[in-house]
Amino acid sequence: MSFIIAIDGPAGSGKGTVTKLIAKKLGLVNIDTGAAYRSVALESINQNIKLEEEDKIINMLDNINIEFKNEHGKDLIYLNGEDVTDKIRQKDVSKIVSPISAIKEVRFKLNDIFRKIAKNQDVIMEGRDIGTYVFPNASLKIYLDASPEERAKRRYIQNQKKGIQMSYEEIVENIKTRDKIDMQKEIGALKKAEDAIYIDSTNLTIEEVVEKIVKKANEIKN
Ligand code: C5P
Repeated sequence: MSFIIAIDGPAGSGKGTVTKLIAKKLGLVNIDTGAAYRSVALESINQNIKLEEEDKIINMLDNINIEFKNEHGKDLIYLNGEDVTDKIRQKDVSKIVSPISAIKEVRFKLNDIFRKIAKNQDVIMEGRDIGTYVFPNASLKIYLDASPEERAKRRYIQNQKKGIQMSYEEIVENIKTRDKIDMQKEIGALKKAEDAIYIDSTNLTIEEVVEKIVKKANEIKN
């Protein structure tokens, strides 16, 4: 079986940042599953499909091609041949991604893609349900958390750097709404796997979180 690290946790908990660093340190393929859900949301916007039109969203899945690539050391996501790495972070996508990801057909389709990727290579995969649902037998499971205020602050700084216009209040609201939907999903709800290691990163630096996880991973590997 491939070596699989599952990193789950709510929005803004630092998953993306630490996952990238750990992938580099340990030579693992880095898969951001949230980016795949965001790509489905983006495609529904591109096709002018409304959230209520669930049938149309499900039909759309047959013609959607999502690929994870690493070019010049940068992780990119392609939607139907187009690099959408930046587009999927926009506000309109963030607003609809949680309800879209609650559609079970969307989850089945994407989970298939994630499982195929991990078949022949060692991966670190971040999301909401990786340790509980996608890879219940993952080699190492981490549940990364932080206080809602700290998570909103981090997302605000991140957005500023990327030129995404969202006020702090809007971010708090978006994070809270997404957390709620994510925790109540019928399939793939956000929760800590029983055997996951819980890390509260509120008062930890990125390096401290990375170090903790790398140490654990090395203990398991050796
Ligand atoms: O990680 P990120 O915040 O970019 O994820 C966007 C959204 O995708 C989450 O709010 C969640 O609704 C959904 N998601 C999910 N399952 C995952 C990863 C993300 O439902 N494994």
